[in-house]
Amino acid sequence: MYKVLVLPGDGVGPEIMSEARKVLTKVAQMAHLVFETKEAFVGGASIDQIGAPISDEVLREAKASDAVLLGAVGGPKWDQLDYSLRPEQALLRLRKELELYANLRPATVDPSLVDASTLKREVVEGVDLLVVRELTGGIYFGKPKGIEKGNDGAERGVNTEVYSTGEIERIARKAFEFARKRKRKVTSVDKANILESSVLWRKVVTQVSKRFPDVSLTHLYVDNCAMQLIRDPKQFDVIVTTNLFGDILSDEAAMLTGSIGMLPSASLGDRYALYEPVHGSAPDIAGKNQANPIATILSVAMMLQYTFQLHDLALAVEGAVRQVLKEGYRTLDLVSSGGNSVSCSQMGDVIVERIKH
Ligand code: NAD
Repeated sequence: MYKVLVLPGDGVGPEIMSEARKVLTKVAQMAHLVFETKEAFVGGASIDQIGAPISDEVLREAKASDAVLLGAVGGPKWDQLDYSLRPEQALLRLRKELELYANLRPATVDPSLVDASTLKREVVEGVDLLVVRELTGGIYFGKPKGIEKGNDGAERGVNTEVYSTGEIERIARKAFEFARKRKRKVTSVDKANILESSVLWRKVVTQVSKRFPDVSLTHLYVDNCAMQLIRDPKQFDVIVTTNLFGDILSDEAAMLTGSIGMLPSASLGDRYALYEPVHGSAPDIAGKNQANPIATILSVAMMLQYTFQLHDLALAVEGAVRQVLKEGYRTLDLVSSGGNSVSCSQMGDVIVERIKH
């Protein structure tokens, strides 16, 4: 029996999570497993209930579960709140308290969706890369931070990029380990021509690489990497980078695949794991049954693979997604590549039907 904490969140979160739950139920039936699920509020939904983006009880529940499955948080309703009370703080707290330091964001271009990308077919066909983003350090957490007023009355906004050797070592190790299961190629992305924190990043990643002589290592400056991702994304296998650079580059990589609605992610630590789509709460389409549930369904596949080591079931879910795309089923975000437009719940149903052991 596996324990999964389900946090649908805000906006399209509850819609996409319903489809992900259907998938979980189907694989459990097929493999005669029990996924004991508990559902709780997070983000804006939690603010509306208890006045805080996440409760201590939900954090305790997360630690008592084998994995956390999250939809998305945030939305205009809560945008006026003080920064410390915003829905997004729930994510930062979960990441920090569960020590989820490695964020894995695979970007794979499905053969049926090559024409959904805004880039040329020959550029994106065959793209299969993995962004490994450091998630609990860097400028999102570094101190000092805040907005302060000087004696002259002018305000100063301050954030600090900080990385320690240990933080860099553990994320680099994860990147090399994943590269070993792929094409054995790591690209480390930094800004070592300007930032001291990046000089240390580059030094430590190079040291770690010595323990992985079978994996090649290249260093790229982040501005060059942003350009190379558009120019020739097929050159990449595993990209390892800092929290801020990874946030930006992984959204860029998302667009290679045609829609951000396609991209799953896993956030892993040494003890806990959280799975969620890369996209946000998409308030513009929330409540319309239009969202693409595939990113969340593929996040379930990542959970089956990384937390539960149920590799066959993970492959079965991924295979079902590939199959429905091949058959031409498309949510609204994907219709530019042709095919039949279906709703969020129809997409979930048809994927569930195609899951075969
Ligand atoms: P977003 O990812 O929510 O939406 C960007 C665009 O992509 C929108 O046009 C949206 O309709 C579309 N989109 C996103 N997911 C889709 C899906 N599954 N199917 C079809 N189309 C989809 O990003 P945003 O608009 O910058 O942010 C909206 C809110 O989400 C903000 O409050 C933001 O803070 C929050 N956010 C949360 C997370 C998270 O929970 N992990 C991540 C990013 C943004």
